[in-house]
Amino acid sequence: MDVDVLIIGAGVVGLAVAHRLSQVTPHKSYLVIDRHPKFGYEASSHNSEVIHAGLYYKTDSLKHRACLAGRDLLYQFCQEHHISYQRCGKFVIATEDQVEELEKLFSNGQKNGVSLRRLRLDKEIPGLADREAIESPDSGIIDSHQLMLKLEALSHAAGVMFAYSHFLKKINEEACLLTNGEEELLIVPQVMINTAGLGAAGVLQQVWSESPYQIKPCRGRYFSLKSRFEGRYQKLLYPMPDPRGGLGIHLTFDLSGRCRLGPDVDWALAEENPQDMGLYHFSKEDEKVKVDFWKSGQRLIPDLKLEDLDPDYIGIRCKLFKDGVAHPEYEIVERRGSFYSLHLLGIESPGLTSALALAELVQSKLEIN
Ligand SMILES: Cc1cc2nc3c(=O)[nH]c(=O)nc-3n(C[C@H](O)[C@H](O)[C@H](O)COP(=O)(O)OP(=O)(O)OC[C@H]3O[C@@H](n4cnc5c(N)ncnc54)[C@H](O)[C@@H]3O)c2cc1C
Repeated sequence: MDVDVLIIGAGVVGLAVAHRLSQVTPHKSYLVIDRHPKFGYEASSHNSEVIHAGLYYKTDSLKHRACLAGRDLLYQFCQEHHISYQRCGKFVIATEDQVEELEKLFSNGQKNGVSLRRLRLDKEIPGLADREAIESPDSGIIDSHQLMLKLEALSHAAGVMFAYSHFLKKINEEACLLTNGEEELLIVPQVMINTAGLGAAGVLQQVWSESPYQIKPCRGRYFSLKSRFEGRYQKLLYPMPDPRGGLGIHLTFDLSGRCRLGPDVDWALAEENPQDMGLYHFSKEDEKVKVDFWKSGQRLIPDLKLEDLDPDYIGIRCKLFKDGVAHPEYEIVERRGSFYSLHLLGIESPGLTSALALAELVQSKLEIN
């Protein structure tokens, strides 16, 4: 089968790319494949569903630029297409010994062009009076399932084909070999876009055997809070970022007001196959971290009790390594063989926020090539 553009992976990024390309160049043929029976089975449905404002990232990095542009595109897309969201804002709250770090984060955010307010909390959050904080009014929450459903529907309406339960097994000379476990299918694309998340480094290796990139899974566990917390908070509550990676165990809520704490940073299974679905399951070991969550959570919710927490779900960060060294940036790699391929690597947080901007970037790269 011949297609103009083959997209590997139907997470939010692959869907955003399919949507963008099919709107801008509708005369081309597009095929999106995913190894699961539906879109968004992996990181795109196991995250905090926060629209990030962009205060954390290194100024002028791709993460910074894609987050700010993606955030604005996302709010606009939500309005235009009636996707549920709330620009609820968030507080980043420091402990007494973190005030200097908080100031640095505040300056970084300002340098990044993010609207922020530096304040000392008064009565805003129960039990946290007098704590030093940053308020980010442009942070928000989104129903990511609705977003992906809309991106898929608009792409489908524009003629994009979807082949779910199809895995990219191998790339040889000029064709991509897909399998659904029973049959094999050869696709000959003009262009291949690799938005395979945890599988992206493996896909790149198929066209570049010397690729220096590797992806390791870093789990982020979530615990939900009992219903007594529903509707208690109007803003998301974050501690200072975790030096081991991640933004620190934060308090978020979904659009129904249900609260949860997470994600933590768990490297224990980093050497496992990043695409092993077993990584998403709570084990007895995982349940033991409940006490750690309770203690971290009490910094934001002083009246939190251990019995308020229930294991909820686990997300897997696709941590990128280059030549064995951690590479905490989005990386876009181009390869030219019998077909042109574009590989999006390390699209971890804020990848949900950045998705529409990354799709624009992919489109501009294809225009040039
Ligand atoms: C714990 C956690 C919390 C996060 N919180 C936020 C947040 O609050 N805000 C935010 O902006 N971002 C957040 N993120 C980041 C965000 O979720 C991701 O950046 C985003 O979902 C990445 O989307 P994706 O499409 O690149 O990857 P994915 O959603 O992982 O999609 C990749 C797809 O590729 C498919 N695939 C892989 N290999 C193959 C193959 N060989 N053949 C066929 N299909 C294949 C997979 O099945 C998968 O569906 C968080 C991430 C994590 C892990």
